[in-house]
Amino acid sequence: MKRFSRSIRAKLTILFISILLISCLSALGIVIIATPNLNEIITLELNREVIHLLTATVILCAGIGSVLMFIATKFISKPIRHISDVTKEVAKGNFEVHIDYQRKDEIGELASNFRLMAEELKNIEYLRKDFMRNVSHEFKTPISSIQGFVEVIKDRNLPSEKFDEYTDIIIEESKRLNNLSTNILRLSKLDNQMIQSKTTIFSLDEQLRRTILLLEEQWSKKNLALEIHLEKVSYKGNEELMQQLWINLIGNAIKFSYEKGTIYISLKKANDTFVVEIRDEGVGIAEESRSRIFEKFFQGDPSRSEKGNGLGLAIVKRIIEICNGTIHFDSQEGVGTCFTIKLPK
Ligand code: ADP
Repeated sequence: MKRFSRSIRAKLTILFISILLISCLSALGIVIIATPNLNEIITLELNREVIHLLTATVILCAGIGSVLMFIATKFISKPIRHISDVTKEVAKGNFEVHIDYQRKDEIGELASNFRLMAEELKNIEYLRKDFMRNVSHEFKTPISSIQGFVEVIKDRNLPSEKFDEYTDIIIEESKRLNNLSTNILRLSKLDNQMIQSKTTIFSLDEQLRRTILLLEEQWSKKNLALEIHLEKVSYKGNEELMQQLWINLIGNAIKFSYEKGTIYISLKKANDTFVVEIRDEGVGIAEESRSRIFEKFFQGDPSRSEKGNGLGLAIVKRIIEICNGTIHFDSQEGVGTCFTIKLPK
């Protein structure tokens, strides 16, 4: 009873009766005020008749109206109650909801938005679980490897060249672990960041030049040539974030280039954007990988997977989103890849 008295149905029915009563009383008032010589026209007998008739009409209208209103409001309150029950299920973590109201009104819109929300939550939950699985896997591999080699080098009779080889592997794997945790922390920080903080005005062309120098060891090891065309550009943004963006993209261009290839880097001013292109003549991206390269932990070429952890482009994508920019790529297997980044002025 308490639940009913608080329901939309009860409230709308009471509202309806109130409106009806107010309308009748107002109508009666208007008739009395607007009638000239009221005392002469309305005798005591007539007055009583009018009042009886009015009372009967009000009671009849209120009765029929309330029943109709009560039935009509069921069409509003039933789906709301259903959606409310389903909300409790979603709160418990059950995202398999079934709400099927194909109506074009507000209730239909609410139901379709609710379905969309449940679908999104399900995806987020799936991604979270997938992320945890990937993190555990990525940590487990180098840790097992370090553990294995440490056990081997405990043997004091190990030849010195083997000792060196195994300690090098341990150092490499530790670096990989360090890199992995830095990238996971970076990504989690970026996931919680909505806008660019600590923005300053800096020279974008200078920053690109500095990044290329920073990666010199890697590109010179592969004997890569670099063709650089950078227009002078002052950019307002977070310098550290932008630096990370170029390190990841140019780092990939180097990593996926063939020996003695060329990397082309350009920066141009367009109408309302700055356009950066980073092109390599490397292995290219396989067609089936193209839709997935920005996913966390995705690595396209397993033979090169030891060189990364599949977080580089996920970080790039997030930085671009925070900067309100766009990123596109063109790639052909065995020919090369070109990433185009557009940053708003
Ligand atoms: P990784 O640590 O493997 O480099 P990324 O997130 O940076 O991870 O890249 C994801 C995948 O995208 C890579 O494994 C690779 O398959 C593909 N990829 C990225 N950049 C390039 C590129 N310049 N050339 C070819 N493939 C690339």
